[in-house]
Amino acid sequence: MTEVMRCYRHPKRETRVSCSTCGRPICTECMRATDVGIKCPDDAKLPRSARTGVMKPDQILKSFLAGLLVALVGIPIVYMLFGLPFQWLLSAAVGFGAGTFINRAGGRNGGPLAIAISVVATSIPFLVWLAPDVFMGTVSVFGGASVAFAVLAAGLANRRS
Ligand SMILES: [Zn+2]
Ligand SMILES: [Zn+2]
Repeated sequence: MTEVMRCYRHPKRETRVSCSTCGRPICTECMRATDVGIKCPDDAKLPRSARTGVMKPDQILKSFLAGLLVALVGIPIVYMLFGLPFQWLLSAAVGFGAGTFINRAGGRNGGPLAIAISVVATSIPFLVWLAPDVFMGTVSVFGGASVAFAVLAAGLANRRS
């Protein structure tokens, strides 16, 4: 027989999860997955070591700027890319490079925000290139695959190792 726990922040919600630091029960919405286990929002804020993936404001700013640069510089690169053979392979390489660049700009922190910035920044030049095709409804399989590869690679580059 197990005792039903209720989230300390949402007394109406039942949960089976509790904070690894203070032991208070927390619902899935409140829980924060950290490198050292599941924590309540209060404890997730505390130790530096448990905060990988959470960027400081200047890291966020740098990530955004890096993303902007990737989006701008990426446009001529993508146009050039599609004139070359093995464009999907090159797209993946370019996407990985872009993701790595944004990751480093953000202090190699990785995390969801860095991934989001990388994915968006990388997809922009491709979307600009694809826009006429999208408009005409003639997006090629290679075009679509190239975008997918690039975006996936950009996200993977930000994976926390
Ligand atoms: Zn706690
Ligand atoms: Zn809750």
